[in-house]
Amino acid sequence: MKKNISLIFLITIVSILSGCANNKGTNTVIKEEIYALGTVIQIQIYDGDEDKAKKAIEESAKRIQEIENKMTVNQEKSEVIQINENSGKNFVQISPDTFYVIEKAKHYSDLTEGAFDLTIEPIVKLWGIGTEHARVPKQEEIDDLLDLVDYKDVILDKNTQQVKLNKKGQAIDLGAIAKGYTGDEVKKILKENGIKTAFVNLGGNVVTLGSKLDGSPWRIGVQNPLDERGKHIAVIEVVDETIVTSGNYERYFMENGKRYHHIIDPKTGYPAEAGIISSTIVTDASIDADALSTSVYVLGLEKGMALIESLENVEAVIVTEDKKIYVTSGLKDRFKLENEEFQLAN
Ligand code: AMP
Ligand code: MG
Repeated sequence: MKKNISLIFLITIVSILSGCANNKGTNTVIKEEIYALGTVIQIQIYDGDEDKAKKAIEESAKRIQEIENKMTVNQEKSEVIQINENSGKNFVQISPDTFYVIEKAKHYSDLTEGAFDLTIEPIVKLWGIGTEHARVPKQEEIDDLLDLVDYKDVILDKNTQQVKLNKKGQAIDLGAIAKGYTGDEVKKILKENGIKTAFVNLGGNVVTLGSKLDGSPWRIGVQNPLDERGKHIAVIEVVDETIVTSGNYERYFMENGKRYHHIIDPKTGYPAEAGIISSTIVTDASIDADALSTSVYVLGLEKGMALIESLENVEAVIVTEDKKIYVTSGLKDRFKLENEEFQLAN
């Protein structure tokens, strides 16, 4: 399901980018699609030197695979799975990559007082949203596993790069942040290869390198959370920044007319219902954007806005159930509403 979503989303973005030139020379765009992290990752490089661009794409693909292999909970083994299997028992030595992402995830868990919680895995697994086993669990099942969710039980030893979960049965899920980190790493590789202009879409997490070739900003569409994939409600202009959205339309199932989506409120163990249907973050580092988009979704409008306004160089667009759109102060002059059904509320 996620694959289709990303593809359609990607089509909008491509159509938004005006004047993608395909001719040889400095306007050449080299595109590649990679399937990883449960989604389609599209890399577009604007550079006259095709060999250089292809090398950068190859290195990026390798790096993406490496990150997935270390951080996934959906394969047989990974560093994260090793940590989870050793919960309540041992410290596990992990790579600097995974350590860094866990450290960041813990930071955002702290900052949001557990609205973001990297130890949400047991509850995520129980619901199985996005898998064929998705179902509404019994309250007792939720209660039992909710006891295990507590980011304070993630013990990090920076000197030895080891991690331990305090209680048996506890488990980490980096699904809300790993794609963001991957976006940053791809951007780093592109830069190291001398690329100056690029656009990367990791299943809706957008990362831009530089401005468009003509010097104008990239114009990125914000998905209409109530419409089919690919329809946007607004456009945000960015240069060298990332845009990440968390929404209830990304992965969900319906039962008795109710939507059960994949962003869990760690306080209740149910899909978050704080009145938000999508939250979008604009900032420099995609790892931060990814963690914060999930955080704001769970926190709700008031606390979410307050959090983002308190952070330097981070902006947000929040869409609420009543079709209102809230934009942080620093984004207003580069945000354009393009759908009359929605109303700018601030
Ligand atoms: P995102 O699409 O970035 O908002 O991330 C959602 C994914 O992160 C889910 O599929 C879960 O794997 C995980 N997740 C769900 N709820 C939370 C939460 N409250 N804190 C951290 N991770 C979560
Ligand atoms: Mg996220």
